[in-house]
Amino acid sequence: MAYKITDDCSGCGGCEPECPNQAIHGTDTIYVIDPEKCTECVGFYPESRCWMVCGMSAPVQDPARKESREDLLAKFAKLNPGKTPV
Ligand code: SF4
Repeated sequence: MAYKITDDCSGCGGCEPECPNQAIHGTDTIYVIDPEKCTECVGFYPESRCWMVCGMSAPVQDPARKESREDLLAKFAKLNPGKTPV
């Protein structure tokens, strides 16, 4: 499941530089995750970085976007050609 950012987002922007896939973009008030770029951090980290750094717990898994680990690894490979997942 890709992550999405809920209305609990304070707009601090702390998550944006933490995303290894550059999936997070925003303005001064709200940040959003591009689900086509979010791998749940699969391939990079054992847990979601945006969720870990957010003091508001605003990033959550999006149940509308169910993906298996294999799906997420395939997305990782497409987004990061030549890179070995950890
Ligand atoms: Fe980026 Fe990971 Fe958050 Fe997805 S879960 S938006 S890949 S930091």
